[in-house]
Amino acid sequence: MIVIRLPGALREYAGGNTELEVNAQTVQEALASIVAAYPVLRRHIFDDRGALRGHVNVFLNEDDVRFRQGLETSLRKDDVVTIVPSVAGGQPAASELSPEEKARYSRHLSLPDVGLAGQKKLKSASIAIVGAGGLGSPSSLYLAAAGVGRIGLIDFDNIDTSNLQRQILYRSDQIGASKARTAAAELKRLNPEVELVVHETRLTRGNALDVLAGYDVIIDGTDNFPTRYLVNDACVLLGKPYVYGSILRFDGQLSVFDAQRGPCYRCLFREPPPPGLVPNCAEAGVLGVLPGIIGAGQALEAMKWILGLPGVLVGRLQLFDALTFRWREMTLRKHPQCPVCGPNPSITGLIDYDEFCGVKPIVQNDQAEVAEIDVEELKAKLDSEKDVQLIDVREPFEWEIANLGEYGAKLIPLNELPDRLNELDPGRDVLLHCRSGARSMRAAEFLKANGFPRVTNIAGGILAWADRVDPSKPKY
Ligand SMILES: [Zn+2]
Repeated sequence: MIVIRLPGALREYAGGNTELEVNAQTVQEALASIVAAYPVLRRHIFDDRGALRGHVNVFLNEDDVRFRQGLETSLRKDDVVTIVPSVAGGQPAASELSPEEKARYSRHLSLPDVGLAGQKKLKSASIAIVGAGGLGSPSSLYLAAAGVGRIGLIDFDNIDTSNLQRQILYRSDQIGASKARTAAAELKRLNPEVELVVHETRLTRGNALDVLAGYDVIIDGTDNFPTRYLVNDACVLLGKPYVYGSILRFDGQLSVFDAQRGPCYRCLFREPPPPGLVPNCAEAGVLGVLPGIIGAGQALEAMKWILGLPGVLVGRLQLFDALTFRWREMTLRKHPQCPVCGPNPSITGLIDYDEFCGVKPIVQNDQAEVAEIDVEELKAKLDSEKDVQLIDVREPFEWEIANLGEYGAKLIPLNELPDRLNELDPGRDVLLHCRSGARSMRAAEFLKANGFPRVTNIAGGILAWADRVDPSKPKY
């Protein structure tokens, strides 16, 4: 007989057994016989294609089977096969609830669909929240309050004045402080029973699998396409549910992507929009309470998933219109050619998401189409040369907040540029700026293609100017 040792995290799916005995000739056969006996185990060990999950390692006696013949490694009598999943921070024990916890969660305990068993599931569960901002604030507050045992906060940013209109974790006297650390302290005050893990880092292709592997459910509170695709792909590769939310102006979207059971984000949006085509919240605005509604919805779906309640938004996309207060539901299907969760995936590891989304920073070299200077160089140029055309391609409301009018800047919003080329002199230098440098780069490329050879983009835009040249300029 072969002994298979199960880690704590998998025992509940194997009838509570810590060891199972099987007859098998190879590691593959041994694992196949335990998933045949306990079918729920399958998705914790194998992916959709029947391959061993990336975060699960199998040892034969003391050796990692990857360094022998993998799953084909043959077995001999009395061999011990040990399954070792990666676990960050240790699996919290599904311990009994203390009297304080019973009092704290009494409204859950009296709810038959949660009860003591459900509350213990919440206590044993872990949730990663990517982005502690508008969506991450309400979702983390509710999940901490509800007693989710371990909450990971992934954010590298600091609190800015413009965050306070909707990021309800933060207070005015915390401006400038680390979001992840401040959020953890606030949530700990709300519920000292909860373990908070601070990941003060940008999620990248290099760290995403390691960071996210340690959590049961991933909540996406990001505001940019590269991170969304990164989180989606990492969740598909790890076999984890990805609770999706997005907000812009008065519109919200909400869904749960669980490639084990339904479509993923790429099944819905195969490719990101070209950079600049879809504005972000900083450019287009967002109504303050909208992230509260969508973020609370994400917390709700994460809790339903952990509790095993029916009706999780897998395969369903909710669209919320705050102006009409109407929710509409779209049915989502798994795309047969999905490059990451389809039967023949072309993406089997994490890729370069900045490049995929076309937001790779412009490299200053001979091939660069458009010259780019930083704000310090701009300041020197404006102070020494009078014969430049400084064009601001933002919207009029942005100009109202802050502008470079004292240097003769002229406002020509990006979408008006094609009709107003006659206001520019192709024989003189044209310097272009926007909020952070993306829109002005598009404007610069447009001008370059339309007979303006002397075009320069200002990297970092007026935000960089406010940071490094003139702090009296308001940031937004
Ligand atoms: Zn997919």
